[in-house]
Amino acid sequence: MPMIAARDRTAWLEGGTARCKHPAPRKEDPFRLILLGAPGVGKGTQAELLSERLGACHLSTGDLFRFAKNSGCCEPDSAMGHALQCMQRGELVPDDVVLAMIMDRWRCLRCRGGFLLDGFPRTVPQAEALESLLRKHSVQLDAVLNYEMPIDEIVCRLSGRRTCSSCKAVFHVETRPPTSNGICDHCGGTLIQRDDDRPETIRVRMQIYEKSTAPLIELYRERGKLIRVSAMGLPEQIFERSIESLGERVQP
Ligand code: AMP
Repeated sequence: MPMIAARDRTAWLEGGTARCKHPAPRKEDPFRLILLGAPGVGKGTQAELLSERLGACHLSTGDLFRFAKNSGCCEPDSAMGHALQCMQRGELVPDDVVLAMIMDRWRCLRCRGGFLLDGFPRTVPQAEALESLLRKHSVQLDAVLNYEMPIDEIVCRLSGRRTCSSCKAVFHVETRPPTSNGICDHCGGTLIQRDDDRPETIRVRMQIYEKSTAPLIELYRERGKLIRVSAMGLPEQIFERSIESLGERVQP
């Protein structure tokens, strides 16, 4: 799969008054999508591919927390410090912390290129808060793509996943191994296993997904926004299915 040039996400990652130095070009008809699916179904990869194709910004809450962790600026007893401890245990970060971060980045929801929300919302209260935020800013959500995959497949995918500590490219020890063990093919960085991809953490994440996030599928079905997409197969195949599911609005 070709490497994708990452879009400038300064405003999203830093929040507050930070602005993207290279904002997304204005779109006539920007896409505003939520990507749903259990951890490990490949939402992040699809978000990057869709971002490249649709011009919409990839807004990942997991990336936000990892960015805060790597910048090393949060005290252990701060709200963010507590959030990072939850993340390390595979638990959800409390809704009030997540929602404060989203409120601080509301401008990204009005991005002129559109948005692809990945990892948010993850609970019904988060979805309700998002609905009122979008309503307040007169922003219309287009659709919710729900990536579906059997649970055994998900556990195998997550436990074998390795991420480049430098450029964040994703490999898999069995299905997408790097040419040299432990080394990124793209930039030569060291491949690591994310803390939340360790087997003991995966189990916690899957239980939490079933309890907290799966109810969102029904919620968005009731809203008439849900589109089901099989997450089986190669990333390129899943991407083609995603694009087809969006219909004629996608420019060739
Ligand atoms: P992800 O990269 O989306 O799998 O997120 C990694 C971790 O960040 C999750 O396991 C949670 O600990 C935390 N996280 C990300 N987004 C949220 C959210 N919307 N609500 C609660 N916790 C979140």
